[in-house]
Amino acid sequence: MSQRIGKNQLPARLQDIAEEDHVFQNWAKTFSCTSELYFTPISEQQVIEIVLLAKKYKKNVKVCGSGHSPSDLACTKGFLINIDKLDTVLTVDDKKHTMTVEAGISLHKLHVVLRENGLSLSNLGSISDQSIAGVMATATHGTGAHYGCLSTLILDITLVTADGQVVYCSSSVQPDIFNAARCNLGALGVVTKVTLQAEPDFRLEAIQRPYKFPDVLADWTNVIHSAEHVRVWWYPHTDDCVVWRANRTTKPKEHKPTSWLIERGFGVHVYEAMLNTSRYQPALIPAITKLMFKTVHSREQHVVDDSNKVFNFDCLFPQYVNEWAIDWNDAPEALRQLDIFITQNDLKVHFPVEIRFVDEDDIWLSPAYGRKTCYIGVIMYRPYGNPVPYKKYWKAYEDIMRSFGGRPHWAKAHGQSRKDLEASYPKFHDFLKVRDQLDPEEMFVNDYLKRHVVSSATRQLEGAKL
Ligand SMILES: Cc1cc2nc3c(=O)[nH]c(=O)nc-3n(C[C@H](O)[C@H](O)[C@H](O)COP(=O)(O)OP(=O)(O)OC[C@H]3O[C@@H](n4cnc5c(N)ncnc54)[C@H](O)[C@@H]3O)c2cc1C
Repeated sequence: MSQRIGKNQLPARLQDIAEEDHVFQNWAKTFSCTSELYFTPISEQQVIEIVLLAKKYKKNVKVCGSGHSPSDLACTKGFLINIDKLDTVLTVDDKKHTMTVEAGISLHKLHVVLRENGLSLSNLGSISDQSIAGVMATATHGTGAHYGCLSTLILDITLVTADGQVVYCSSSVQPDIFNAARCNLGALGVVTKVTLQAEPDFRLEAIQRPYKFPDVLADWTNVIHSAEHVRVWWYPHTDDCVVWRANRTTKPKEHKPTSWLIERGFGVHVYEAMLNTSRYQPALIPAITKLMFKTVHSREQHVVDDSNKVFNFDCLFPQYVNEWAIDWNDAPEALRQLDIFITQNDLKVHFPVEIRFVDEDDIWLSPAYGRKTCYIGVIMYRPYGNPVPYKKYWKAYEDIMRSFGGRPHWAKAHGQSRKDLEASYPKFHDFLKVRDQLDPEEMFVNDYLKRHVVSSATRQLEGAKL
């Protein structure tokens, strides 16, 4: 075990940005760690100094973004670096619609600066609280048949590697490092800067309508292509679903007035109270789902607004989540199997099951690598105190997704083995090779990476040497 380092052993210039025994907790409070030293650097130079210190004292290092990953992906007992303060916009090219930013910038802040420059990101996930580095590290995605995950918007990356070197990469400069770094799981080093491709600012018109789920599954290909951005929410225990479609528009902003009582009063507060009650009476869950669908979600909804406001949603309350990616042609069968499992095993599960579409890409560890992808996300409400039983549901869901060659969302805790992950990513070993070159002493490795990714690197490389 390496010797413990106290704050007072640090060079004076690092003492002000260091905290001992910091407890890091992810957003949903499902994972936490106590890091020996927690740093909040304000410059790339400080990042280099921290990494060199970690090298000297043989400490593991992780970077946390906004801590939104529902897993231990960002956890370490060693040195934890939070680069929230590296959030400056460095350059904007208004002809090419690109922007170079420090990697700790949040998407919320990015939207403001992009809009000031007449720009927007082409696609987004459900929230904008994440850092751009965190989004990229996990191939965070939105939805849209012709839109890749957010990492596909990254044009170049600068990172501080385990030997304190600043490495720049892009599709033409050190392309292997670039291909690994565009979905890097925090395993290559500390990303300090990225350049992003944006597009001219746009508004979206979104229309949300109820459908019968079997009809949607039967008309799958048309549904996927029925708008630029399509997502489906299915309500387990029912054959109801909602399809949300959004297209770029030049129409003026429009919000049909909604009743606070229905949207927030019922849609959030009463719903949460009912979910809490159902902890003691799980048999109520199907009735709650039907009531919520009828009261809140079965109405048609229509909005025109700035793109980021339409892409983002209120994720309501802390949840257990699991989300895997499969070929979008296989999704109807996978969903039918999930429905049958829930019914035959009398499981009581919460809604919604969220279904989104992502175009294929060439990013080595992207779950959409080489295939047009459907992400299927399952959730269970996570009350404070008594956990709700979700493991049987998760196991069945994962078994089904695995049987369709599924790849788990890297940010979300999952039960996929290293062996299966190696088999499902054609460029897994290329990633490991780059990782091993940049971080031969495994400074950036944590328990998550040991479980799912890195030990195979060692094994593979040892195998290669023999
Ligand atoms: C409410 C909610 C909604 C979500 N919605 C979506 C969604 O719609 N689509 C989707 O795909 N995902 C979604 N996610 C998942 C989320 O986008 C990812 O977990 C994302 O990685 C979080 O970014 P973060 O800044 O919080 O990173 P963290 O969770 O803090 O870290 C994630 C990873 O990035 C690494 N990292 C962070 N910064 C750096 C850096 N500077 N250098 C190197 N590595 C770094 C960390 O080490 C870690 O490995 C959601 C999560 C929540 C909680």
